[in-house]
Amino acid sequence: MVTVCEEASCPNIGECFGRGTATFMIMGDKCTRRCPFCDVGHGRPDPLDVNEPSNLAKSIAAMKLRYVVITSVDRDDLRDGGAQHYVDCINEIRERSPQTTIEVLVPDFRGRLEKALDIFAKSLPDVLNHNLETVPRLYRQARPGADYMHSLKLLKDFKAMYPSIPTKSGLMVGLGETDEEILQVMRDMREHDIEMLTIGQYLQPSDHHLPVLRYVHPDTFKMYEEEAYKMGFSHAAVGAMVRSSYHADQQAHNAGVE
Ligand code: SF4
Ligand code: SF4
Repeated sequence: MVTVCEEASCPNIGECFGRGTATFMIMGDKCTRRCPFCDVGHGRPDPLDVNEPSNLAKSIAAMKLRYVVITSVDRDDLRDGGAQHYVDCINEIRERSPQTTIEVLVPDFRGRLEKALDIFAKSLPDVLNHNLETVPRLYRQARPGADYMHSLKLLKDFKAMYPSIPTKSGLMVGLGETDEEILQVMRDMREHDIEMLTIGQYLQPSDHHLPVLRYVHPDTFKMYEEEAYKMGFSHAAVGAMVRSSYHADQQAHNAGVE
């Protein structure tokens, strides 16, 4: 299996691989959504690969990874949104690499949330991550098919069902939001019991994607970070190069996972 880190030529790859951290994308490379900031392909997805969980676990064991982030495309075509496939992956990784910490960065399971959350009871990750991505005012434009309150509910419900598992969410800046809107989303996150935060600069993957409307100044990132700790986040990874999985191991450590 190829890591997202390599496929996306992530600039943090040296640092992350050096720390034994990598991100993998499961359930294919075609998303049933079409978010105009995202570089993932879209269209009718292929059927799930039943061998993917074991192949993924083999790759993780061969790479001797200490911390993995498992993410996926949105699979609105599946009755459980792919929750069982996530659980199958967690099980296989636990079997081959019991010491490896597993973070899942999940889609929104819209229309099948209850079912998906129940399925996770069979095999829980060490961290549950779901990105809000942007402020609610920009959802229609940036996250068509998604719903701000639904995403917050996913995170809150997961935490209520599995209180020992830390929850995490992330935002991009540069899509046209204001600082006050970002701070309000952070407050909403805390009201929905989210413990870890990532905020990074949006970069336009191609001319066909949403334009960058501002490059956020390092002082502003610093302000977000300070506010995050005041609001009670256990960890905040905030900065231009921050991605959802950046320093994921350190974040989890601060949240008491490792
Ligand atoms: Fe991989 Fe995420 Fe690190 Fe980039 S930030 S190298 S995608 S783990
Ligand atoms: Fe990209 Fe996720 Fe949107 Fe799919 S749902 S287009 S993977 S951001």
